[in-house]
Amino acid sequence: MPEQLTRRQMIKALGLAGAGVSLAAVSGGNPLNAASEAIADTKAQPVPRRYWWVKNVDKITMEVDWKNYKRFSEWKTTRGSLKEYRGNAEDAKYLKLQKDNLLKWELENVPGYTTKDTALKNAVGYGRPPFQFMGPQTVSTPQDRGVPIYEGSPEESSRIITAALRHMGAATVGFVQLEPDSTRKLIYAEEPAPSKKPIFFENVDVGYEDEKKLVVPDKARWIIVFTIQMSTETMKYGPTQLGSLTTALTYTRMWTIVSQLHEFLRGLGYHSYGPSQFNGFSINPALATLAGLGEMSRLNRIITPEYGPMVRAVSIATDLPLAPTKPISFGVMDFCKDCKTCAEICPSGALSMDREPSWEGKGPWNNGGAHKAWYEDSVKCRNYWNTCGTNCGTCFSSCPYAVDDEASMHKIIKGTIASTTMFNSLLVAADRKAFPATTGQPMKNPEDWWKDTNLAEMGIDTRRGGRNI
Ligand code: SF4
Ligand code: SF4
Repeated sequence: MPEQLTRRQMIKALGLAGAGVSLAAVSGGNPLNAASEAIADTKAQPVPRRYWWVKNVDKITMEVDWKNYKRFSEWKTTRGSLKEYRGNAEDAKYLKLQKDNLLKWELENVPGYTTKDTALKNAVGYGRPPFQFMGPQTVSTPQDRGVPIYEGSPEESSRIITAALRHMGAATVGFVQLEPDSTRKLIYAEEPAPSKKPIFFENVDVGYEDEKKLVVPDKARWIIVFTIQMSTETMKYGPTQLGSLTTALTYTRMWTIVSQLHEFLRGLGYHSYGPSQFNGFSINPALATLAGLGEMSRLNRIITPEYGPMVRAVSIATDLPLAPTKPISFGVMDFCKDCKTCAEICPSGALSMDREPSWEGKGPWNNGGAHKAWYEDSVKCRNYWNTCGTNCGTCFSSCPYAVDDEASMHKIIKGTIASTTMFNSLLVAADRKAFPATTGQPMKNPEDWWKDTNLAEMGIDTRRGGRNI
């Protein structure tokens, strides 16, 4: 917890070491100890090292009442039930508004909605492999090749999965052990509409899917959860077609990697189970939080130390034994109490303005009641998506954690937030002055993006996140 950090860490967080203050004079100790202790701590885990201010903890920073937590049905989200939530007439009105606005703005050459923006957004959504509960199942198994299956300790297996996923394009990787009374409840009870098939756990050797259900074997006790980095740059052009190609490209990459991971596990001699439809398997922000990939936030999504909120997360279950990774704390839940920037700039008022997270959901699209969160009004958010024609995302781009963290000043700020809540209000005010956010408008002129012929590949920096420290 931040309160447990040493004075040395505090001073380092505040950047005073760089300002010439003698740490030895202040504390009588070696100023590098705190940082090396923190790095040594993370080295014990089968994950890459992290910033010194990221602490491994035993419990996630969000309160969860596992006893009363119930498995949720994916089709209850606004992805599956928006029409029911807003009614037929209202739904038709919003769908027409979206169609009309997109046509009008493309004809008028509105920056971010022009023909080139629309064409690129649609193009990068191409090439996604089909969703398959057990993956494509095309590569050879060890049995096919006449060799024994791969065997290694859970730690070694976690390491090779991490290495493989990084090579496939994942950003960060973590592991959660499924327990019937807690973490297993994060697997959806029913998959998305229109099938709404139940997902069962059964005592079978290999899982399966038939017309009535999806079955995960009890022995598939390990979750592999990973993030995919989104482009911080293109997200700044939301809410436009240019901004929304951020998520379009990320999902194309994500589903490709999910298929490759299924095939990698098959090639090792193991089975795996994942989404059979879009987002159809598990509550990924929660699993990513449990695996230590980030903390939950006012966005009701994770914020990672490496990429802020600029990630998508996805999970699959496997029968390959893996070593769980620990949750982390770096001050996000406390910082969000003071910040509220995302909620204030949200054009639809969908995000909570309450200082404290709540047990109560905002509607049937939330799995409220047994975990404390800043629940969002998803219908308001979706209504705005139909109005601006795309998936908006300005709450993500306005978040202080979305700023490129390779700027040394920003590293100091993040370290400070992780160390103490004392300066949070001041830091919020400073961030707003330095990076003013705009409601319902791109942060940058979309036409300027098209003038840069030296853009980062896929809009992302794959060495970001302290990988060079
Ligand atoms: S995507 Fe847009 S409308 Fe939805 S919560 Fe974020 S800022 Fe609000
Ligand atoms: S904008 Fe502020 S309140 Fe919103 S998620 Fe980011 S840090 Fe938290």
